Amino acid sequence: MTIFPQLEIPNTLAAGPGPGNTDPRVLARFAAAGVADHMQPDVLRGMVEAKIMLREVMGTKNVHTFGVAGTGWSGLDCMMAAVQPGDSVVAFANGTFSGIDALTLRMKAATAEELAANPMDPKPASVTVVEVPHGQSVTGAAIEKALAEHKPKWAFMAHWETGSGRINDIAAFSEACERHGCLGLVDAVSSLGVADFRIDDYPGVAAWASCPQKGICCLPLTYAPVSFTDRYIEVLKTSGARSLVHHPILEARHWGILDGKDAEKGTYHRTHSAYAVAAFHESLRLALEETVATRAARYTFHESILRKAVEAMGCEVTSNMTSLIVLNLPGDLAGKEMELVQMCRAEGFAIWPTLSAPVQVRIGILNQLTEEAIEEIATRFADAMVRMGADIDTGALRTLVQESYAASMAAE
Ligand SMILES: *Cc1c(COP(=O)(O)O)cnc(C)c1O
Repeated sequence: MTIFPQLEIPNTLAAGPGPGNTDPRVLARFAAAGVADHMQPDVLRGMVEAKIMLREVMGTKNVHTFGVAGTGWSGLDCMMAAVQPGDSVVAFANGTFSGIDALTLRMKAATAEELAANPMDPKPASVTVVEVPHGQSVTGAAIEKALAEHKPKWAFMAHWETGSGRINDIAAFSEACERHGCLGLVDAVSSLGVADFRIDDYPGVAAWASCPQKGICCLPLTYAPVSFTDRYIEVLKTSGARSLVHHPILEARHWGILDGKDAEKGTYHRTHSAYAVAAFHESLRLALEETVATRAARYTFHESILRKAVEAMGCEVTSNMTSLIVLNLPGDLAGKEMELVQMCRAEGFAIWPTLSAPVQVRIGILNQLTEEAIEEIATRFADAMVRMGADIDTGALRTLVQESYAASMAAE
């Protein structure tokens, strides 16, 4: 028998696309939760309160708004639960994550024969995947063209594609879904809690899914926010879902959503954990105290300074998200992206490469919205580039960052 020593995991600087830097207040509530079961009154009350706060954070009156235990893919799996074999689907893919979403939809919409023909990568006749090149956004024109041509039952798009750091046109998507009678499905894993938007402003979108550990500043394996319109729920009631645990109507019950209405407390669907509920509850309190609009403005501001700093280092930024910078290294360092990222990660500076080609560097600022944090990220990145042979005056770079902050203070 082997018993390994206790597992020690160091603290790193989370400067990637996610998970983000969990807020200390969330960590404190996580650790302070008592040992209590999933039907204990304060746990159930916490879930009902979290559901109400989540509606506010997402900007919705959808009754079916709650958390799915797990991470982003858990929420997305629940969101896609009503997609049936043989259903017509159009999915837009412009990077790693929307590519995986499209694979999920191909698996769900494949007939038994189509799935058996290629179980890990089915190509159902009823699903069209519109591939948009890495580094580009999905445009209104591309959406209109595909939905007008196919008029599918379901249409899918990622709001913010974290693989390439691109924002997609959610307003055009929603309008096209309405125009062509499609049920819109949106992966909002990277945008919720970072961008200032209300999902009810996009009535063509029937269901949304996000994650705990990016803009919401909670821990992975707590709760992935999801929200479903009544229209989605009606479709689900008619055709069903081949999932018990991720069945949106059944999952909603534990959050006190019964027969399409709010109940005083939840009824059993599956075991929930006191620590996850406490952490999620605190992360929603934090978002509402700050307001999503204020937080979104802070992302825009701090991203602009980090962007200026990496551009001053000669990097070319190809992203337009406000929580993440995706960049190409300057001339002499081009091709060394992976090496640079690995060197930084080995030192606890957790930046990321892109996960699909072309290889680029991704630097994120989730819950790193202070001058100190941005200066540290910029300086550590500059130091790493210098060690790879770049000719950068790190002192001048630090001054540039400090002066950018000072100038914005003076302007206020
Ligand atoms: C992070 C991310 C996911 C996957 O979420 P997990 O939390 O890793 O399960 C899916 N889609 C997008 C757009 C993401 O950014």
